[in-house]
Amino acid sequence: MKVLVLNCGSSSLKYQLIDMENESVMAKGLCERIGIDGSKLTHKANDKEMVVEQPMPKHTEAISLVMKALVDPEYGVITDTKEIAAVGHRVLHGGTVYSESIVVNEDVKRVIRECFDLGPLHNPANLMGIEACEEAMPGTPNVAVWDTAFGMAMDEKAYLYAIPHEYYEKYSIRRYGFHGTSHMFVSGEAIKFAGLDPEKGKVIVCHLGNGASISASIGGKCVDTSMGLTPLEGLIMGTRSGDLDPAVVQTICNKEGKDVNEVLNILNKKSGVLGMSGGVSSDFRDIEKAREEGNHLADVALQAFIYRVAKYIGAYTAAMNGVDAIAFTAGVGENDIKSRKAICEYLGYLGVKIDDEANNCRGKNQMISTADSKVKVMILPTNEELAIARETLRLVK
Ligand code: ADP
Repeated sequence: MKVLVLNCGSSSLKYQLIDMENESVMAKGLCERIGIDGSKLTHKANDKEMVVEQPMPKHTEAISLVMKALVDPEYGVITDTKEIAAVGHRVLHGGTVYSESIVVNEDVKRVIRECFDLGPLHNPANLMGIEACEEAMPGTPNVAVWDTAFGMAMDEKAYLYAIPHEYYEKYSIRRYGFHGTSHMFVSGEAIKFAGLDPEKGKVIVCHLGNGASISASIGGKCVDTSMGLTPLEGLIMGTRSGDLDPAVVQTICNKEGKDVNEVLNILNKKSGVLGMSGGVSSDFRDIEKAREEGNHLADVALQAFIYRVAKYIGAYTAAMNGVDAIAFTAGVGENDIKSRKAICEYLGYLGVKIDDEANNCRGKNQMISTADSKVKVMILPTNEELAIARETLRLVK
C-alpha cells in the first residue's frame, strides 16, 4: 500500500510517497514559492532529481505537478495515481476537538477552518492541501494528522493557564503543544529502543531544532510539553524566545512605541539564539562557530539554550516522579555532540552517565549513556513523515 504524505505551508508543499510494505521512501520533493513568482518543484526519486519551474498560483496546481512527477516516465515511481491508497496530511491545529488522527470529512474541514485563528500561517495552507487532493484524486481518502494531538492527553493542571477561566471557555486559550507527531513518534521509539514497559515507560523527548520543544510522557501518553497556545512558549529556539514574563512585552511596547503584534513578531522571529547572540544567526552551527571564535554573546546564547533544556528535564522528571529514558532528536538533538553532552552534565543528580565515544555520533539511533547510567539516554532521529504515513495506514486499512 502506498501512502502520500503532505506537509503544506503557506507558500510551500513538501511530500513523500512511502511504500508501507517496507516503509521505504519511493519519492520525495518540495514545491516552493506557491502563489508567488518563481514557483518551483524539486522531485527526487531513484537517486535522480527533476526540477520543474512553472507557475503554481495555488496548492491545486502544485498537487497536479506532484502527481505528474510521480507518474513521469523517467522520474516517476508509479504508473497511475490510483496506486496511492491514501494521503496523510500534517495539520497544525485541531483545537480542542481532535486528539486523534482522523479521516477527513466535511466536519474535519470545518474544524480546521475554525482553528485558522489558532494556526494562522499553517491551518489555511493545510486545508488548501486537503482540498487540492480531493480535487486531484477524487475518492482517495485524506487523513488529518494533527500536530496538537499528542498534547491533548495532558491533564487540566498541565494545560490550563492561570488566567481567568472564562478565556478558556470563550476562546479555548490553553496549552496545546506542537511538534506532536515528532514527540509521539520518538517517545514510542524510545520505549522500544530502551526496552521499557510500553504502558509505564517514563520518557522525556528533547526535540531540539530551529523550533525546539520538550515533552514528558508515560507509556507514550503526554504528561506535559513545553510549547503552549502557540509554539512560542518553552525552550529557547533559533528565533523564538521561549518562556518569558509577559511584562517584557509591555515594557518593550512602551519603551519602543510598538504595538503588541510587533513585539510578538520580535519574540517569534528575532529572539532566541539569534537575538541573544546580538544577531549572529538563528542557526546553531553558526552560533557554535562564533563561540569558538570568542564571541561572548554567542557563548551566552548557547549556554542559556542548554540551561533551559536542563531545567525542563528537571521539571519533567518531577512531573512524572522519575524518568526512564531521555531521547534527543531533530537537527541539534541528533547532530550537536557538544550540546548533548553539556545538557547531560546537568543531570548527574539523576544518575545520568554519558559514554563520550557513543555520544560522538550523528543522526542515527544510538544509546549514548553508559551501561550503569540510571537513566537511558539516546539519540533517536525523528521521522514525522513516517509517523504520518503509519497513522494514515492505520485509519484507512
Ligand atoms: P526545523 O525543522 O525546526 O527547521 P531542524 O530540526 O532541521 O529544524 O534543525 C535545524 C538546526 O539544527 C539548525 O539550527 C542547525 O544548525 C542545527 N544543526 C544541524 N546540524 C548540526 C550540527 N552538526 N551541530 C549543531 N547544530 C546542527
